Amino acid sequence: MNAPLSFVHPTADSPWGTYLMQVDRVAPYLGHLARWIDTLKRPKRALIVDIPIELDDGTVAHFEGYRVQHNMSRGPGKGGVRYHPDVTLEEVMALSAWMSVKNAAVNLPYGGAKGGIRVDPKKLSHKELERMTRRYTSEIGIIIGPQQDIPAPDVNTNPQIMAWMMDTYSMNTGTTATGVVTGKPIHLGGSLGRVKATGRGVFVTGREAARRINLELNGARVAVQGFGNVGSAAAELFVQAGSKIVAAQDHTGTIYNDKGLDLAELIPHVKATGGVGGFKGADVMKSEEFWDVNCDILIPAALEGQITADRANRVKAKLVLEGANGPTVPSADDILAERGVLVVPDVICNAGGVTVSYFEWVQDFSSFFWTEDEINVRLDKIMVGALKRIWEVADQHRITLRTATFAVACERILTAREERGLYP
Ligand code: GLU
Repeated sequence: MNAPLSFVHPTADSPWGTYLMQVDRVAPYLGHLARWIDTLKRPKRALIVDIPIELDDGTVAHFEGYRVQHNMSRGPGKGGVRYHPDVTLEEVMALSAWMSVKNAAVNLPYGGAKGGIRVDPKKLSHKELERMTRRYTSEIGIIIGPQQDIPAPDVNTNPQIMAWMMDTYSMNTGTTATGVVTGKPIHLGGSLGRVKATGRGVFVTGREAARRINLELNGARVAVQGFGNVGSAAAELFVQAGSKIVAAQDHTGTIYNDKGLDLAELIPHVKATGGVGGFKGADVMKSEEFWDVNCDILIPAALEGQITADRANRVKAKLVLEGANGPTVPSADDILAERGVLVVPDVICNAGGVTVSYFEWVQDFSSFFWTEDEINVRLDKIMVGALKRIWEVADQHRITLRTATFAVACERILTAREERGLYP
């Protein structure tokens, strides 16, 4: 009865294709709820918007933007906004679906959504970036709101962009709607601990997984792909636990230091130059060699589709922590499982960001703000509890942590779907 979606043409390794395969794998564990599984295979709502802006030189440029609300059975939509030249509707659909799974996996009262603009933001001036952000917010303003759908930062977006989004929405509605976006600057209703929360969650789930496989963090060798908000914050916490960051890669280069990179120098270098490339305290590597690095823990914290079948065969790590969304294609997932490499999947591993987004949203509603310590303690507790439940399901059915996370999350989503019933 169900025709495939007409507006995307996924392949086996494309983001939506990857997601569909992950959903198919969970079907046997859903019992009677499997009846509702097609709900997960099509987004509830997808909005494509044109974003015309005047550039500083007086010409007019048009950008294509999206906001996809994948599922709202468990609450309002929630998920970031990405600015990147490769953004497509298909990618945003997959990212929105992974948000549904992630939010349910940690039991946040949210559905899943995601947005994006196909643009290279590094080519825009500050003012152009502001105009584009404001016009995008206005265009998607018909479907977002503190109780409807709450955007947040993702790749190439940050607290300043969230401030413009919050201001634009507030101006359009005649309110001060702090709860419409999360990841805002602290004095605009942002939360302490939000900026580093995703990296902290990667560390917390990594610490728990390492304990279960008897991998000592003190002295462990870690390789990190992507040294932005997620990768650098996770790296700092691993170093505090005694691990060494032996390799780091981003779009500016791949660097290696067998003794461990000095983060006190690398992080300011990345802030000043925009990437790890050109860092003096390391050797340069060819980018493909990154996947052969001798390490115990590999943290992909950049974009989708990075761990391909070929690279999965070469990975030396015992533990892969998915800081990025969708970094491993399904064929690579199988190879890693066969090789005994433990993968903590994106939909639990990087859920720390949206968990503190949830804390921010709750604080905004009550206008009562928590200390950073309170935030970090609550984050740790939620992540550890969620991972424990997932591990039980993985052990019970002898399935990967990814399929177990999908089983826990999809059961919650589809139970809500069933209880609410079909309208009309
Ligand atoms: N963009 C982040 C993610 O992929 C955070 C989303 C949010 O805080 O809503 O999980």
